[in-house]
Amino acid sequence: MEHVDQLLHARWVITCEPNHAILDNHSIAIQNGIIKAILPTTDIKTKYQADQETTLENHALIPGLINAHTHLAMNVFRGLADDLELMDWLNNHIWPAEGKWVSDEMVFDASLIAMGEMIRCGTTCFNDMYFFLEATAKAAIQAGMRAHIGMTVIDVPTAWAKTPEEYFEKSLAFHDTYRNHPLVTPTLAPHSTYTVSLDNLARVKTIADDNALQINIHLQESLGEIQLSHERHQKRPLARLQDIDMLSNKLITVHMTQVDDLEMALLKKHKVSVVHCPESNMKLASGACPVQKLLDHGINVALGTDGAASNNDLDMISEMRSAALLGKHSTLNPKAVSAQTALEMATINGAKALGIDERTGSLKVGKSADITAIDLGEIETQPLYHPVSQIVYAASRHQVTNVWVQGKQLLKNRKLQTLDEADLLARAKKWQGKLSANA
Ligand SMILES: [Zn+2]
Repeated sequence: MEHVDQLLHARWVITCEPNHAILDNHSIAIQNGIIKAILPTTDIKTKYQADQETTLENHALIPGLINAHTHLAMNVFRGLADDLELMDWLNNHIWPAEGKWVSDEMVFDASLIAMGEMIRCGTTCFNDMYFFLEATAKAAIQAGMRAHIGMTVIDVPTAWAKTPEEYFEKSLAFHDTYRNHPLVTPTLAPHSTYTVSLDNLARVKTIADDNALQINIHLQESLGEIQLSHERHQKRPLARLQDIDMLSNKLITVHMTQVDDLEMALLKKHKVSVVHCPESNMKLASGACPVQKLLDHGINVALGTDGAASNNDLDMISEMRSAALLGKHSTLNPKAVSAQTALEMATINGAKALGIDERTGSLKVGKSADITAIDLGEIETQPLYHPVSQIVYAASRHQVTNVWVQGKQLLKNRKLQTLDEADLLARAKKWQGKLSANA
């Protein structure tokens, strides 16, 4: 008998790759945070023994969910300004509130609260874009989550940086500190082509090339953005990025509700990833990303919630459902964005977009033990004919019971292990008090 750290025995192991395999009554052996074996439970018990065994009788184990686009600190603005048009929402509500409240303390508190929410919905990895990056990194290390943290560049002054020069300086300092961290990965995050000049975007590209970094950018989120770009530059935003040679497999374009056939060919040619944020797009009435068409073109499409001020949650279980439903509704095609596709967008496609699919994004021997358990035994998901169908179309985040990152347990029987729920609620109350008093 070989000794391992942990054995997880589950009713189903939903691997996501290869071949979308769904394994009945299988177990996962974990050693040093890595998946060592995936075998039928009866076999694994004859080969391995472990100090710690977890039996999940009615559960599906899925790859930890990857939220490929977030602004975690915006959790304190959840519900502050709803039911508004994108530019009105940004110019008259969100940006003024950020101007007043964003600080190191606020970003740390809000990120920590957001991570509590994300772990409770089965998310193990996120790709963030905000300010005061150190605060988000510290929160991620405390929470034990895999964090891609975008070094924001924007041509307007914020509490974090006053000039583009200062954004670049602070970003490079952050990169120096975290470049080799096991959980935190710095990325570049120019906000958009309407808020960052082409010169500064070109500079972002140079830094990305020099340091092999991913670039995240909000792109072609709404028709208004396309019209603005035409008025100012006589070009679409993607064409402007092409002008500075930014299109590559390191580029992550977020939203892309507006994308034509020529642009799809470009995205495919340069292996650019797209992040779809269906609930944010629906709430701000920005349009619908043609997800199935992009996938049919061979373009990698991941899934994100966007910030909690435009969603209003960080729930990747409901986001999968929204992606599947919007995919069908917007094309009048019930076959578009199947349940399996939605699950892959939330797992392996997210890992591909972030360039970490060698490490995470599917349940495969040799990959990190980033795993989420969902209890499908509750009445809401019974009777059960197909576990992926139940997860995407019927389950709620409250059925997520256990979460591991690199084999370390972050959620156990719905209880947070690395964060304290009462502490998170107290932090949320503190900011509610400050923002309400101001209103
Ligand atoms: Zn966003």
